[in-house]
Amino acid sequence: MTTASLPIDLCARLDRRATELGVTRRFVIRNPATGEPLAELPDLGAAGARWAVDVAAQEAANVPSIEQRRQWLSVIEQTLLDRRESLGRLITLENGKPLPEAVAEVVYAAGFFGAAAACCPELAEATLAERARGCAWRVRRRPAGVAALITPWNFPVAMMAKKLSGALAAGCAVVMKPAEQTPLSLLVAIEAMLEAGVPAERLGVVVGRPEPIGRVLCSHPAVRIVSFTGSTEVGRWLMAETAPHVKRLALELGGNAPFIVFQDADLAAAADALVANKFRAGGQTCVCANRVFVHEAIHDAFLDHLRPKLEALRVGDGLEEGVDLGPLIDRKGWEKVDRHVRDAVARGARLLLGGDAPRPTQEWGAFYPPTLLTGIQPEMAVCQEETFGPVVAIASFRDEPAVLEAANAGIHGLAAYLFTRDPARAERVVDQLTFGHVGVNTGTGPAPHAPFGGMKQSGFGREGGLDGILEFTDTQVVATADA
Ligand code: NAP
Repeated sequence: MTTASLPIDLCARLDRRATELGVTRRFVIRNPATGEPLAELPDLGAAGARWAVDVAAQEAANVPSIEQRRQWLSVIEQTLLDRRESLGRLITLENGKPLPEAVAEVVYAAGFFGAAAACCPELAEATLAERARGCAWRVRRRPAGVAALITPWNFPVAMMAKKLSGALAAGCAVVMKPAEQTPLSLLVAIEAMLEAGVPAERLGVVVGRPEPIGRVLCSHPAVRIVSFTGSTEVGRWLMAETAPHVKRLALELGGNAPFIVFQDADLAAAADALVANKFRAGGQTCVCANRVFVHEAIHDAFLDHLRPKLEALRVGDGLEEGVDLGPLIDRKGWEKVDRHVRDAVARGARLLLGGDAPRPTQEWGAFYPPTLLTGIQPEMAVCQEETFGPVVAIASFRDEPAVLEAANAGIHGLAAYLFTRDPARAERVVDQLTFGHVGVNTGTGPAPHAPFGGMKQSGFGREGGLDGILEFTDTQVVATADA
C-alpha cells in the first residue's frame, strides 16, 4: 500500500526521508469506523527524530521578527479556514468523529493561530519604568529553541494547533509528533502552512512508534521544551526522561471532570450542556464530564430532561448524515468503557440506557451506545478513572461541602462544571474547586483566547492566550548601566 491515494506531498517526503535513513518499518492508518486502510507511513524512529531535530535546530538560530511571525499565524488561520471541509473530512476518516464536529475542530484549531497573532505585539521588548541600581532594565522574550510537540488522536489538528500557534508566535522551530492513529489530517494541515510560506525547516514532523522518538526528543540537547498532550502515565514517563537533561515541560494530561447540578439550577439548560459536553468526540475528550453530581432533590427531574436527549442520539459512521456519535478510536478504548459500565453495575449502579454494545471483533468498528448510569459511588472505576466514552455516570449528593469533597477527590484537576442560579454559591464553589478550567452554567471547554491547563496531576503549563505563547519563551533581562 502507498500513500498515493491521498494527495499528501508530505507523506511522499516522509517516505523519501525513510529511504535516506534506511528505515523500512511502516505502519497503516485505518478508518476506525470501517477498518478501511487510508494510508501507510514509515516509522521514522530515533533516526528520523534526530534528523528532524537537527534540521529544526539550524532553523531555530534564525529568529524571525515578531511581525513576520504575526503574518505567518494570520495566513495559517485563513488557510485552515479555507480548507475546513477537506481537512474535516480527513479527520472524520482517521478519527471517526461526525463530520460537522470535525469541521468545527478545524475552525477551532484556526482560532488558535488567530489568537496567537493578536498577542504578538505583546512579545515586544519592554523597558521597565523603575531604574534600579542606576540601570535601564529591559525584558526580552526570546524563543526557547527547538520545541518538541506531542499530541493525541482525539483532536488530530486542534491539539497540535494549540501548541504550534504558541511555539511559532514565540519564534521557535518545532518537531511535531502526532498520534500514530491520526497523523494524516495534521500532515495535510502542515502542507497548507508550508504553502502559506512558513519554512519547512521550522515545521518538522516525525511519525512512528512513540518510545524511540520520545527518547530522542527528551534527550537531544537542541530540544529545550517538550510540550505534550496525552495521558498522565506518558506525562510521568516524559518527566523522568527529561529530568537528567533539565528540559522544560508543558503537560496537558488526563482529566476526570466533575459536572455538578445544584438544586437551584436551570435543569433543561444543564441537561443540554451535559449532552453537548459529554458526547463531543464520543466522550473521548479530556474535558468532558466524567462524574455527574446531581442534588438529590432534583435527581429524578434532571433525569427526565436528560434521558430523552440521550435516546435521540444516533451512533454510526461519522461520514453519514445525522450521526451524533462515531466509533470509539479502537477496541482498547471500547474495552475500557465496557469495563467501567460492568464494574459500576456489579457494584450496585442502575443501568438506565445503553451498555449493550456488541464486542468489536477487530481493532475497528468499536461502536458504543449512549449509556446512562445512576447510583454511582466513589469506589467505582467510572469515578476513579477517565472513561473516555459515551457514558453518563450520575451520583446524587445532599449538600455543598459533600459534593465539593467528592469533586476534588483524586489526582486530576483539569476541568469542572457547575450549574446554579445563585451567583454567591457559584463563586464560593469556584474558589474551592481544584481545576484549571471551570464552567459556570456552561459545559464549554477551552477557547483560543483563554489560557487552558490543569492543576494537580492533570499537568502544568498553559495553552491559548498570551500564557500559551510565553510557555515557549525564555525571559532575558538586560540591565544597562547609565552612561
Ligand atoms: P497517550 O497514550 O499518552 O498518547 C498521546 C501521544 O503521546 C501520542 O502521540 C502517543 O504516540 C505519544 N506517546 C505515547 N508514549 C510516548 C512516549 N513514550 N514518548 C513520546 N510520545 C509518546 O494518550 P492517548 O491515550 O492517545 O490520549 C488520551 C489521553 O490524552 C487521555 O488521558 C486524555 O485525557 C488526554 N488528553 C489531555 C488533553 C489536555 O488538554 N489535558 C487533551 C486531550 C487528551 P502514539 O499515538 O504513537 O502511541
